[in-house]
Amino acid sequence: MASIGLLRRRWKPAPGAAGVIRVRTVCLTEVSMRVVVDFKLCESNALCVGIAPSVFELDDNDYLVILDEEPGEDLRADLKAAVAACPKQAISLADD
Ligand code: SF4
Repeated sequence: MASIGLLRRRWKPAPGAAGVIRVRTVCLTEVSMRVVVDFKLCESNALCVGIAPSVFELDDNDYLVILDEEPGEDLRADLKAAVAACPKQAISLADD
């Protein structure tokens, strides 16, 4: 589920109106997810590549590279699976 930044705005009642204060919630921006890999821990065994190939890849030297550091929410489930599958616990997800 997307994390949403919210702004609550209050209106003062018009002069002479009943003392009702309305509260409206406005969506400002979607908070992005960020993929972080601790490359000191990573052993480039490519388990995460198999789970989320649009985010992770091995380069020509078989080192892990992150293709997309801020993937869409549609990939959150796959990335959570990659976090869980990583034998070195090298992957973390941060919400900015
Ligand atoms: S699963 Fe973990 S150890 Fe394996 S390549 Fe991905 S980040 Fe590195």
